[in-house]
Amino acid sequence: MRFDVITLLPELFEPFLRTGVTRRAYETALVDVRTWNPRDFADGNYRRVDDRPFGGGPGMVMLAQPLALCIAAIRAERKDAAPVVLFSPIGRPLDHGQVSEWSASSGAILICGRYEGIDQRFIDSYVDRQVSLGDFVLSGGEIAAMALLDAVARLQPGVLNDQGSHAQDSFNPELDGLLDCPHYTRPETWEGRGVPPELLSGHHVQIDRWRRDQRLAVTARHRPDLIAAARAAGRLSAQDESVLARLA
Ligand code: SAH
Repeated sequence: MRFDVITLLPELFEPFLRTGVTRRAYETALVDVRTWNPRDFADGNYRRVDDRPFGGGPGMVMLAQPLALCIAAIRAERKDAAPVVLFSPIGRPLDHGQVSEWSASSGAILICGRYEGIDQRFIDSYVDRQVSLGDFVLSGGEIAAMALLDAVARLQPGVLNDQGSHAQDSFNPELDGLLDCPHYTRPETWEGRGVPPELLSGHHVQIDRWRRDQRLAVTARHRPDLIAAARAAGRLSAQDESVLARLA
C-alpha cells in the first residue's frame, strides 16, 4: 500500500521512517510512504504556503492552491482514486477499527495541517475524510500521520519479529477486543517484587488461563466499555463470565 504524506515538515518523517521494527515495512515498501512539501508547489520567490485569515485574528492559514497542485501531482503518479485524509480535531478519533481498515487498504493521501489550519474551500473540494488523534490540539498533523502509519505498519505480515505478536495485543476484535495482560521478564525478583507464579509454572494451559483472566481483569478495571462491547459481540465465554462475576 502507498501513503503520500503532504507536510510542510517532511524532515520530521526521515528518522521516523528509518527507526524501529516498522522500518522494515517502510524500507521494503510494504508500506510505501512518500512525503510531499506544498512549498514545492507554491508561487513566487517566497514560495508562500500561508497567509493571514480573512476576518482578522491571530495566526496564519494554509493556502488552498499549493495543496491542490500537490494533490494533482500525487494523483498523476498514483493513478488511483486514493482517498484524501486530513488530520484535524474535527475527525473521528483514530482507533483500532480504522487502523485495521487502513492496513487492508491500498493507502491514502494524508494531509498534515499547520498554523490555524487550512483554507476551508480546499477542505470542501478535496478532503474525503478527517481523522483526529483525540480531543486535544497538536501544532501540526505530522504526529497524527505518524501514529496512523506506525499502527498500520506493525499490522503488516512479517513486520513484528514474532508473527503472532500483534494478535494478542489490545483491541484486536479477532481475539476478544480486550486490553492486553501484564508482561514480565528477568530477573525473577526485582526490587523485592516477584513474578506471578503461573508464568513460571511451565504449564501452558495454566499460563493461557492466567493471561486470559488478566485480560478480563485489566479491561474490567480500566475500560469496562470494552467488556460490554465484547459481551455484545459474543466474544466472552461462560468461563470468562464467571471470572468477571468473581471480580465484581
Ligand atoms: N485551529 C485548529 C487547530 C489547528 S492546529 C483548531 O482549533 O481546531 C494545526 C494542525 O494540527 C491542524 O490543521 C491539524 O492538521 C493538526 N491537528 C491539531 N490537532 C489535531 C488532532 N487532535 N488530531 C489530528 N490532527 C490535529
